[in-house]
Amino acid sequence: MKNSRTLIVGNWKMNLNVQQASLLLHRLHERIRIRREIELVLAPSMLALQPLSLQIDRRKFRLAAQNAYFVDEGAFTGEVSFAMLQDLVHYVIVGHSDRRHKFGENLETVRDKVSAAIRNDISPILCVGETQTERRQKETKQVLHDQVTTALSNLASSDISKVVIAYEPVWALSSGTDYLHHEIPTPDIIADAIKAIRHHVYELYGKKAATEMRVLYGGSTNASTARGLLETEGVDGLLVGGASLNYQEFSGIIDAAYRMQTASESA
Ligand code: PGA
Repeated sequence: MKNSRTLIVGNWKMNLNVQQASLLLHRLHERIRIRREIELVLAPSMLALQPLSLQIDRRKFRLAAQNAYFVDEGAFTGEVSFAMLQDLVHYVIVGHSDRRHKFGENLETVRDKVSAAIRNDISPILCVGETQTERRQKETKQVLHDQVTTALSNLASSDISKVVIAYEPVWALSSGTDYLHHEIPTPDIIADAIKAIRHHVYELYGKKAATEMRVLYGGSTNASTARGLLETEGVDGLLVGGASLNYQEFSGIIDAAYRMQTASESA
């Protein structure tokens, strides 16, 4: 059985200046109706968060930050803390492969960010996933084990329900523009990885936490693949990159989620 509300997150990454971000939000407001069955989250750049928070229709969307620093304040030039984001966002994306692989964030950094999010009453969207090399070398299970268990190791069991995990195989992520043609994993690969993720949550926090944990899939999602991905065993939603920058594509994904949700409710 699926966890109740489908969660769709648009990660705009390092794209769109404030004006462009505002225009995209405007288009999404026009195109998207209020849907009780789906939770929609937008993750613009840090710079656009504040202006978009004034413009956003909170009945339709919530905001997420793409990153934050785990210390609450102090001499950390250039950083923005979770504490500073507290009143602005519901979620922060943590451990995205861009952060792990391009900015050298290790398992412990990601763990500290997950803890800082919880401490500041923000839900972390924890990204995990193997690289192409790790998959070829049959290390996927080990990578998921290390990423999940380290990241969640400092949480109290009462906090675990606030965490969302996104399975994002690094080899399936688009460049930002090739999401229509990029290779995506088979349903079996996704279902297996998510099963392993839930198993690690189970080992740390028990059965309820593992079954109720919201787990997303991310990697070259688009409007035509969304439904199949959402129907995959264990998938509670999608973390969308490139396609979330195109309002038609992104609203197509939301429509697919809505159709799936209403079909499963009437079944
Ligand atoms: P993509 O990005 O949909 O462009 O592959 C997903 C992500 O990186 O979160």
